Amino acid sequence: MVPVNDLTRHVGPLRQQLNDVAGQVIASGCFVLGPRTSAFESAFASYCGVEEVVGVANGTDALELALRALGVARGHAVAMVANAGMYGATAALACGATPCYVDVEASSATMDPACLERLLRQTGTRPAAVIVTHLYGRLADMPRLCEVARAYGVPVVEDCAQAHGARGKDGRRAGSYGDVACFSFYPTKNLGALGDGGAVATNDPALAGRVRRLRQYGWSAKYRNELAGGRNSRLDELQAAFLCVMLPLLDGWNARRREIAEAYSRGIVHPRIQVPAVAGEEYTGHLYVVRSADRVGLQAHLARLNVASEVHYPIADTQQTVMARMGGMPALPVTEALCGSVLSLPCFPELDEVEVARVIEACNAW
Ligand SMILES: *Cc1c(COP(=O)(O)O)cnc(C)c1O
Repeated sequence: MVPVNDLTRHVGPLRQQLNDVAGQVIASGCFVLGPRTSAFESAFASYCGVEEVVGVANGTDALELALRALGVARGHAVAMVANAGMYGATAALACGATPCYVDVEASSATMDPACLERLLRQTGTRPAAVIVTHLYGRLADMPRLCEVARAYGVPVVEDCAQAHGARGKDGRRAGSYGDVACFSFYPTKNLGALGDGGAVATNDPALAGRVRRLRQYGWSAKYRNELAGGRNSRLDELQAAFLCVMLPLLDGWNARRREIAEAYSRGIVHPRIQVPAVAGEEYTGHLYVVRSADRVGLQAHLARLNVASEVHYPIADTQQTVMARMGGMPALPVTEALCGSVLSLPCFPELDEVEVARVIEACNAW
């Protein structure tokens, strides 16, 4: 079987190094919010080209704490897309806020600036923040989205959980465009720990300070709970140490993912399979996603030829039970069409040439 992902192959070559740093953490007696967390925070901040990074427990917490730090609270609305796995909605709901949904562009599957503008122009629905997801690792149209949001005074939260290291044509990295950005280091992400982890990145020192307090009970200093909405959401020393080992390898991994994606987009030629356009550094190759009107048929065909595939994501937020129960969900034609047609093919740095060729052949043999 050609798998969609294989973490054994991914971490195998790093086993000795990871064992060594784990041994150092164990010997240090310091396990939460110590020197390795600080070291990773500053290394990742300079990698992303932002002033500050705050390590937290996972990507969903990163979104929630970023929203709280922006002042999002009960009764507020948060604008977002509905084709990105429900993570933003989960974070908004945790703050007591309500998601309000914006459709995506058909070509990129990321937020459509015209649809955002239409939402913001409606009186009475001014959201407290907008979450922009760089879906599949492809940078959304940040210049236009930020321009629209800023014209209405709405802060922008970038969801970079699939886009570590993506770089725009202007040379800026994912996470440096919005007011605040959120990362996940879940093991299958482009930069993944050996457990859960996440981070909030920003150029605003006051906002970073609020996230630092919120991740630790709202403490301003030990046992002084001064900021409401605090939680326990910390990145631990073991994960930070592993991430320090992996960060220098990220650009190489992303380049290999892009190479595979490029081979697919050139090699897959089938009238009923629509491949994504070949992309440069604005795409990290987190997921390689084709579209087909007969997704079910394509997936079954690939499975018969021992090629695994997955759907990211099958259900629009607006159709999820949790949201549909709230009522008043808008129709999102582009989003809904994508949910019924997208299919993710195997794409991870350790995939070999024989496997890449097998995936292409399997698609073309449909
Ligand atoms: C994985 C992911 C998250 C959530 O990260 P966790 O660490 O699993 O909480 C959020 N947004 C997107 C786009 C993701 O892919």
